[in-house]
Amino acid sequence: MLELKNITKYYDVAGKAFPALAGVSINFKKNEFVAILGASGSGKTTLLNIIGGLDRYTSGDLLVDSKSTKEFTDTNWDAYRNATIGFVFQNYNLISHLSVLDNVEMALRLSGVSAKERHERAVKVLVEVGLEDHINKRPNQLSGGQMQRVAIARALVNNPMVLLADEPTGALDSKTSQQIMELIQVISKDRLVIMVTHNSEIANQYSDRIIRLVDGKVVEDTRPVGISHLDEKNDKLLNKKTSMNYMTALKTSFKNLLTKKGRTLITALAGSIGIIGIALVLSLSGGMTSYVNKMQSDTLAGYPVSINQTVATDIFARRSEQFNQDTTGDFITDPIIYSYDQASNTTIHTNIIDQTFINYIEQMDPNLYNSISYTKAVALNVIAETSAGGYLKVTSSTSSNPFFTNGQVMSEIPNNPEFIQTQYDTLAGTYPTQYNELALVVDKQNTVDVSILNSLGITVEDSYTFNDFIGKSFKIIPNDLYYNQVGSNFVPRTDYETMYNDPSAITITIVGILRVNPDASSELLSTGLGYTTMLTDYIINQNESSAIVNAQIASPDTNVFTGLPFNTTVTYDAVMKVIGGDSTPVGIQIYPKSFDSKDSIKAYIDAYNVDLSSEQQIVYTDLAETFSSTISSLINTITIILSAFAGVSLVVSSIMIGIITYVSVVERTKEIGIMRSLGARKKDISRIFDAETVLIGFAAGVIGVLLAILLNIPINLVISHFIGVPGFSSLTLINAVELIALSTILTLIAGLIPSGIAARKDPVIALRTE
Ligand code: ADP
Ligand code: MG
Repeated sequence: MLELKNITKYYDVAGKAFPALAGVSINFKKNEFVAILGASGSGKTTLLNIIGGLDRYTSGDLLVDSKSTKEFTDTNWDAYRNATIGFVFQNYNLISHLSVLDNVEMALRLSGVSAKERHERAVKVLVEVGLEDHINKRPNQLSGGQMQRVAIARALVNNPMVLLADEPTGALDSKTSQQIMELIQVISKDRLVIMVTHNSEIANQYSDRIIRLVDGKVVEDTRPVGISHLDEKNDKLLNKKTSMNYMTALKTSFKNLLTKKGRTLITALAGSIGIIGIALVLSLSGGMTSYVNKMQSDTLAGYPVSINQTVATDIFARRSEQFNQDTTGDFITDPIIYSYDQASNTTIHTNIIDQTFINYIEQMDPNLYNSISYTKAVALNVIAETSAGGYLKVTSSTSSNPFFTNGQVMSEIPNNPEFIQTQYDTLAGTYPTQYNELALVVDKQNTVDVSILNSLGITVEDSYTFNDFIGKSFKIIPNDLYYNQVGSNFVPRTDYETMYNDPSAITITIVGILRVNPDASSELLSTGLGYTTMLTDYIINQNESSAIVNAQIASPDTNVFTGLPFNTTVTYDAVMKVIGGDSTPVGIQIYPKSFDSKDSIKAYIDAYNVDLSSEQQIVYTDLAETFSSTISSLINTITIILSAFAGVSLVVSSIMIGIITYVSVVERTKEIGIMRSLGARKKDISRIFDAETVLIGFAAGVIGVLLAILLNIPINLVISHFIGVPGFSSLTLINAVELIALSTILTLIAGLIPSGIAARKDPVIALRTE
C-alpha cells in the first residue's frame, strides 16, 4: 500500500540543515496495525506527517499503491489527505467553536458531499465511536477520551485507507487509553493504521508490528514487508479531487460567525463607520442638490439671457491681444505699467434682430425656457395732467434695454410676471396685467426720484400715501391725433389739453406699487412707471395704419419727421419702429427653466452665429452667469470636501477590517492547520476567509445604512431649524443598495491579503501553534 524509499527530511535550523529523518525505508501493507516507537525527538511526528502528506520529504520517495509521489501537485496532495488519510493527534485538534457533529462533518464538507449525506455519515460514525449522546456538544464540554473519539470519528468519516495516529493516548489516563486503543484496534481490522507512540507497552499489546526509530533512522522492524506483499495499485482514490464550493464556504463561514456573535458585531460596526460617512455625504449632497435646484428655478435661473439692440464688446479680448497674453484676466508678472485707452478699444456692437433671427428663436425647444419676452422700440406719447391743473408731455423710454435704465420715467416690464413677482413685492394694489395698467416701481427706501415726479406732473412733496399714486391715470395719444402733417413732414402737436381730453386718447392707470424683494439678487426694473408689453403691442396695433406710418412707407428714402434722407444713425427701420410701423422687436429676453437649459439656450444662439461675420453675429448677455458659476463651484467644493472625509473613513474602516481579519487568521492558525490536515486546499482556506469577510462586509453595509438613516433624523431636525427645509438629508434606496454592495466588495478586498496569508500557512507549523 505505502512504500517509503530512503526518505530524508532536513530542517533548516539557524542556517544549517538538521536531519530529522536520515534515510527511512519502510513498506506498509494494506491491512496492518503498525506502531512506531521512539524517544522524543527521534523523528516520529515528522515521519507521520510525511506519510500523511502534511509535510514534504527532502529526498527519497513515497509510493502510494506503487505510484510515486515525487511529481505530486498541491492538488494531488490535498486529494490524498482528504480521501486516503485520516489523522488523529495527541491533542485531538478539534475546532473548538464547532459542535461535535460539525467537527466531524468538516472533512465531508471539503470533499463536496451533500448536506444530507454529510449529516447521515457523521452521525453514523459518531455512533460507532460511542458518542451518539454528545453530537451537539462543544469539544470543551467533553472529557479527553470523548474528544479523542470525536477526532477518530472525524478521521474515519471519509472512510480512509490509512489512519495515522500521533500519540493518540498521550494525554489520556491509562483506563481511557485502553478504551481508545481498543477502538483503534477494531478500526485496524479493515485498514492500515500507523500509530506513533513512545509507550512500548501499548505498542506491544495492540499492534501487529513495531518499528523503532532512533535519531531519524529505523533501528528495528518486527515484521518487515517485502515488495511482493504490496497490493496492486488503486488509482481511483488518488484521482479524486477535493472540492468545497462557494456556497459551502459561505455556509461554513456563516456558522463560524454565528458562534462568535459579539466579535462579528464589533467587526461589522467597525466596517460600517465608513459606510455611515458616505451614506451621510450622499444624503446631504442629495438634499443640497435638490435644494439648489429649487433655488435655481426659483430665482437665479430666472434671470434671462438677453439680446439687446446694442452691446459694448469685450475689451479684455483686445487687451490680451495688445499685451500678447494667452488668456484674458490673467495677472501680468512683468514689473511694467502699461498705458491703455479703453475708449478706443471699446466698440458698440449692434445686434441685427430681424425676422430670420426671431423665427430661429421661436423654433427653439420650448422645454428650455419659461417664456420669451420681446422689447419693442415704439414711442409712447404720454400726456399727464399736473396737480396744478396743467398738462405736460411725459418723456417715455425708447430704450431697448429694460434693465439698468434708471432715470427713465416710463419703461417696459419684461413679459414674465411669474419671475418678476419672485423679485418684486407688490406693496399696494395689484400687479399690472392689462395693456392699460401701470405699476409704480420704487426703490428699497420707497423713494421715487424728484425728476421722475416732475416729469409726471406730480407736485414734489416730502412723502405720499400709496393711494396718492394708485388710481392715477395718464393718456396715450395715438399717432393720428399726436402728429400734425405740415407739407410732407410730420410735427408733434403741443396743445396737450385738447389731446388729453380727446376721446381717442387711451387712458392708462397706476394699479400697483412694486418694490424689489429683500431676497432678490439684483434690481431688474428701473424706478418710475412700468408698463406691460401688452401696452406696447396695443399701441403698435393702433399706429400701424396711421397717416405718419403710411407716409413713411410711401417715401422709404426720406425721414418723415425732417424731410431729410436717412443716414447710418437714423435709418428707415429705426424710424418705422419708433412710430409703430414695424413691430420687429429690438430686444429679446429668454427666461430659462434651469441652469442647464440656460446653457442649452446659449448653445442654440451660438449655433446661429456659426457661419455669420462678426458684424452679423448676435451677442447676448447672461446676467446670472457669475451667480451660477459661483454656486456651481461652491457645491463642487463642498461635495469634494465631504467625499474626501467619507473616503478617508472608508479607507480607515477597510484597513480596520483587514486588521481584524488578519487577527482572526492568526487566532485561527490552528484551525487552518486542522482543515489542511483534513484535505482542505489552499483555495478552500482562502474561500472560507473570503466568505467571512464578504458576510462581515455585507453586515457592515446594512448596519451602516441603517445607522445613517437613524442619524438623518437629528440631522434633519437641525437643518430644518436653520433653513426651514424639512427632510433635507435622506438616503435613496439605490444609494443604500450601492453602499451595501460597496461595503461588501471593499471588505472582501481588505480581507484578500489576510486570507491569502491564511491559505499559504504551512499546515505542519499551523498545527504546532497553540
Ligand atoms: P518526535 O515526534 O519523535 O518527538 P519530531 O518528529 O517532532 O520528533 O522531531 C524530530 C526532530 O526534528 C527534533 O529534533 C525536532 O527538534 C526537529 N524538528 C521538528 N520540526 C522542526 C522544525 N519545523 N524546524 C526545525 N526542527 C524541527
Ligand atoms: Mg512527536
